[in-house]
Amino acid sequence: MDYQFYDTYSNTKKLFTPLDPSNVRMYVCGPTVYDYAHVGNARPVVIFDVVYRMLQLKYGQDHVCYVRNITDVDDKIIEASNSLNEDISTLTERTTKYFHSDAEYVGALKPNFEPKATDHIAEMINIIEKLIEKDHAYEAKGNVLFAVNTFKQYGKLSGKTLEDLIAGSRVEVVDYKKNPADFILWKPAKENEPGWDSPWGKGRPGWHIECSAMSEKYLGQTFDIHGGGQDLTFPHHENEIAQSECCNDKKFANFWMHNGFLSIEGEKMSKSLGNFITINELKDKFQGEVIRFNMLLTHYRQPLNWTEKSLQESKKILDKWYKLLGTAEQPLASAKELISEIMLKALADDVNTPQAIAELHQLYKAAIGGNQKALDTFYNSCKFLGLFNSTSHEWSTRQNKAVKIDENLINELILKRNTARSGKDFPEADRIRDELLNMGVILEDKDNQTTWKLK
Ligand code: AMP
Ligand code: ZN
Repeated sequence: MDYQFYDTYSNTKKLFTPLDPSNVRMYVCGPTVYDYAHVGNARPVVIFDVVYRMLQLKYGQDHVCYVRNITDVDDKIIEASNSLNEDISTLTERTTKYFHSDAEYVGALKPNFEPKATDHIAEMINIIEKLIEKDHAYEAKGNVLFAVNTFKQYGKLSGKTLEDLIAGSRVEVVDYKKNPADFILWKPAKENEPGWDSPWGKGRPGWHIECSAMSEKYLGQTFDIHGGGQDLTFPHHENEIAQSECCNDKKFANFWMHNGFLSIEGEKMSKSLGNFITINELKDKFQGEVIRFNMLLTHYRQPLNWTEKSLQESKKILDKWYKLLGTAEQPLASAKELISEIMLKALADDVNTPQAIAELHQLYKAAIGGNQKALDTFYNSCKFLGLFNSTSHEWSTRQNKAVKIDENLINELILKRNTARSGKDFPEADRIRDELLNMGVILEDKDNQTTWKLK
């Protein structure tokens, strides 16, 4: 079955033909590790996991190489390390573990390589040297900058012209830039900041060069698919293209795939807006498959509005589906031939997961009548989408654990909140109320008494 994917670069849905079917290559920008990831960050993890599974199915498990990097050097990391008074590598190792646990929770397969930026400084320096040699980059005050006007196609991916960028002040204007849109490849390390020796002094790489270096190392100068969230088209991916194509004189990625935003109350979920829910905080309440299923209900390029209500609805569906599994009279067969063709057809059309799930509902209906073949197809199709990682028994018992409440803890938190309120520390009181809410506990204040109930 042929796959069609929407390519952001050409703004069209195109037939996917890999450069080498025996080695299909995909790179996805991974997290910057300094804290817990939020649910928005899980969207590319889940969606590119589905793409990875699709590629493995078509080309064979050993013929797909999926790389997702870890950005472990960045301003935000330095800031967090200073404010927590924690050594940078301890912080990044700790938060990388959080990310791994989150990715596993949402049922994502491990990528083939997960390179860390700090392990690839030499490769980055190498690309920067080549860019300087070819007059695409220049040194200024210990910085090395990419000269955007040396790359004719600059702006093609995000559909921006240089004039738009400058007029819209999307670029930082500093006196050492030849053009305000020129971007950093290397910058000097301030005192107490991580830094590496380089031909331009002790410094550290810009964010964009990291992905150019790591994708080339593991996937070659040209590869099949580059993915990430829609917010990365400009400047991150635009700059990756400029660096890599100018360095190698070759096309960088053949397909650019971008997921839409996950938003909450109409706004993009992000750390900077403070409107985020961490993946971690959902773990007490929902099994990871609920998060995954809920994400797949929306097509990956569409905006996804995150609500607790839709999670509850997804949970109900999965409860029902798992219950059906529990009624199977004979062991369920497991074979890729049993994956629904109709579902695969939906996925082959630019990863149409909502359509794929509509087919799962049909299969469920057929299976519930006791048709073993339909049940096997239903089971294998769900498994292919990364569902049914538990047995029905595990599912129901873990669910019970998830709603199990610790009354002592609740009372202790209520007491703490009351103390905070009488001391007029309202932010702390609100924080505790939200913490309880995350545990599924609703507080009611009446006549100087606080009572609680479960959501
Ligand atoms: P970051 O750690 O911020 O670099 O983000 C890691 C990945 O999550 C990138 O691919 C981002 O594009 C993606 N991402 C961040 N916020 C959202 C969001 N609200 N919705 C969807 N994807 C997001
Ligand atoms: Zn990247």
